[in-house]
Amino acid sequence: MAGYYLMYLRKSRADAEKEKYGKYETLAVHEEQLTKLARLEHLRVAEVYRELVSGETIEARTEFKKVMERIADEDCEGVIVHAIDRLGRGDPVEYGWILSCFRFTHTLIVTPGRTYDPDNASDLQQLKLQMFVSNIEFDHIRERLTGGSYASAERGNYLGSKPPYGYDKVAGKSAIVPNSREAPVVRRIFSMAADGANKGEIARSLNDSGILTRHGKLWCSSRIGTIISNPVYKGYVRYGYRRQRVVSREGMTFVKQTKVSRDGEYVLTKGVHEPLVSEREWRRAQGAFEAVPVQRDRTMKNPLSGLIVCGDCGRALVRQVVKNRYGSKYERLHHAYNSECRCRSADLGDIIDALCEALAQIAKDVELGVKCCGADPNELESLERAIEEEDRKLDKLLELYYAEAITVGEFKQRRDASEELSRRLRERHDDLAARAAEPAEIVTTTRGAIRLLADDSVSAEAKNSFLRRIIERIDYWREDRRGGRIRLVVHMRGMDPPQPPPTPS
Ligand SMILES: [Zn+2]
Repeated sequence: MAGYYLMYLRKSRADAEKEKYGKYETLAVHEEQLTKLARLEHLRVAEVYRELVSGETIEARTEFKKVMERIADEDCEGVIVHAIDRLGRGDPVEYGWILSCFRFTHTLIVTPGRTYDPDNASDLQQLKLQMFVSNIEFDHIRERLTGGSYASAERGNYLGSKPPYGYDKVAGKSAIVPNSREAPVVRRIFSMAADGANKGEIARSLNDSGILTRHGKLWCSSRIGTIISNPVYKGYVRYGYRRQRVVSREGMTFVKQTKVSRDGEYVLTKGVHEPLVSEREWRRAQGAFEAVPVQRDRTMKNPLSGLIVCGDCGRALVRQVVKNRYGSKYERLHHAYNSECRCRSADLGDIIDALCEALAQIAKDVELGVKCCGADPNELESLERAIEEEDRKLDKLLELYYAEAITVGEFKQRRDASEELSRRLRERHDDLAARAAEPAEIVTTTRGAIRLLADDSVSAEAKNSFLRRIIERIDYWREDRRGGRIRLVVHMRGMDPPQPPPTPS
């Protein structure tokens, strides 16, 4: 039987803890997940080994011993496990033995995140590190648990920490049951929506009847909208629907927002809980309120969005449409109100003109060689050497730990420091390497940006994404008087920062 894989299942200490609090069948969940993975990767699984004892030593793990015997078979290509630490952790001698077995039998280790080839030096290094680290950091499991949570949601369990309005959470379990006071309110909301009432009308009707929200507040239309669009009421569960992600940059800081995932990016499946309305009624309620346009116009109107900031305080300048006294509208970029910083606003068109001028000057300077761009090859080389040095230090550190020359605490502290330094060196290196652009190319793209800015047929969004590729940030100043001059300092990507001009007084 040529080219087969083995699956090995074993719960971790953290899984065992979790099982105490609810009906979470670790092995079943993992088996389902790994079977899916095997199907996806076209790996033929010859046998599944389920370790029922949670012993730490190899001696206690009878199924694992069978796996280790079986991998000596030439046709056994690899072992599929939920995470590296399932193979073994604890004694360095034991996992040293495990790794050398995999290595000499040329057996792959397949996990949901990555496949490791112990014949490959960098994979082997990773494996060593992971087995070692999981031994001391078994509480650092959040990431690995997320996978299990998805699988659990796929089985119809409700995983949210708070129950949705209309339900109670069953203590210690991933389950919800209808709340006798709130469930009838949910049914009333759905039946009103299905009869064509809009969200505002429903909210008013509830408030008039003296029904308050769970937190004792009045109902508002957005709260009603959240309820009507939640599939939990027709008996479905959603997992991973809302996520934290970086949505934009405000000056120099990243703005994080909870965003709703797109279709296919989250789990939506029939739940094991009792629905409050039928699927038909749920759909009718959606239909009734989808007809009402709720989406505001969110297209980007400011080509300098996320790029231009106040040169004094770093606050973002935002676009505002203003009407003059004759009633015609024009666009201005203005500073946040209520701040001590006295930064004057300006007409967007005037700012764009100033930007075009500044870009033209930059193109000219690069062309004449006044401005430097590109990376210094000496600095790149010394950075590469420093990165290698850090890698070597990390190896050395592992050796010291194996030899019991340092304690776990010392190891962790020194490893963290070394990794932090490595990360910073790599960042600087990548930043420099990205500068490898030719001056001629920079001149062309900079002049291209000027043409693009002048073209009214190009959308603000397209202008913005082009500018973001070449510009890192624009500092803005304006003389504090009527019609005062606008001064911009443009920080181009891949170029040394410009000298700021004297602040106009
Ligand atoms: Zn300011």
